[in-house]
Amino acid sequence: MLPEELEEWLTSLGYPKYRARQVFGWINKQGAGSVRQMTNLPATLRELLQKDFRTGTVEAEQCSKDGSRKLLIRFDDGQRVETVLLPQGTRFTICLSSQAGCGMGCAFCATGREGLSRQLSAGEITEQVRLAELKFDKPASNVVFMGMGEPLANYENTVRAIKLLNHPWGRNIGIRHLTISTCGLVPQIQKLSELDWQIVLAVSLHAATDQLRGKLMPINSKYPLSKLLPACREYAARTGRRVTFEYVMLKGVNDGEEQLRALSKLLRGWLCHLNLIPFNPAAGLPYTACSAREIRQFALRLEAQGIAVTVRSSMGADVAAACGQLRGGRVGHEHPGKN
Ligand code: SAH
Ligand code: SF4
Repeated sequence: MLPEELEEWLTSLGYPKYRARQVFGWINKQGAGSVRQMTNLPATLRELLQKDFRTGTVEAEQCSKDGSRKLLIRFDDGQRVETVLLPQGTRFTICLSSQAGCGMGCAFCATGREGLSRQLSAGEITEQVRLAELKFDKPASNVVFMGMGEPLANYENTVRAIKLLNHPWGRNIGIRHLTISTCGLVPQIQKLSELDWQIVLAVSLHAATDQLRGKLMPINSKYPLSKLLPACREYAARTGRRVTFEYVMLKGVNDGEEQLRALSKLLRGWLCHLNLIPFNPAAGLPYTACSAREIRQFALRLEAQGIAVTVRSSMGADVAAACGQLRGGRVGHEHPGKN
């Protein structure tokens, strides 16, 4: 619940207003894992909260050589998702799942292969942050919606989770430290820009012509580049924030001259930049990664065309925690990445 909802609920039951702030803080700041920890609340209120108090459970954990970790989290109906923890110096970034599975079916993504199991509630989204923070005994500095699922296909819960993470009574994570990555749902991008939030918008582009993008990402037939790009430009103009385009480098597929030319046409001259992502292989994905050298060459050629380019340093690939490798496993199924 958001603070104002808690206030309304608790005052309707005869509790003073300040109890809302205490309850919100226990859940969203102190990271309480049980109502027993909420020692400054009266016993009657704790009993009431107990009725609806649910937490996730960390079922498995894998540590990468590079310091990142992946948690397999199970919710109370047995649904599982993966969450990735990325400590980088003073920064601690948590990569969240917004859905269990994903229904978007991108050809290069292991999560997409599973299909969508179900939406996650806002509480299940923020619960991943609580469990991750407990692991490192450190508060999150950044949160990216780049785990399993398409956050804008779970729009209401994603927006609610952001309000919970950002609220000063709770974790108070600055809106500029939050990133939403989307495959390009145009109406939701428009809705997001109307919030005037300055959240970082990352858009999975992966190809610069409709012909190729349509092959890689089924969503392109609904929202082709001629609709997607204006929505992104509008987002940048309205929020003053640079839009990030993600581009997974698939050898012999999207790394050629035609795409290069089309990319510079789409991205030159406005507030955006391109983030090249090394392809992370996963079982059953029919693509090959470009070498680091090939990616650098591609980046240099784009730079020469006046495009701002960065190359993502992928973490966690050795424990299948890198972009596009996450899988949840459905109720009653063995989790594929567990061992
Ligand atoms: N559904 C959202 C966010 C989750 S995926 C989206 O698609 O944007 C996070 C990023 O990883 C996206 O840019 C996605 O395209 C990319 N990705 C998916 N599969 C990948 C793979 N096998 N290797 C590298 N990146 C991948
Ligand atoms: Fe879903 Fe994103 Fe994977 Fe596409 S890349 S299938 S939208 S998680």
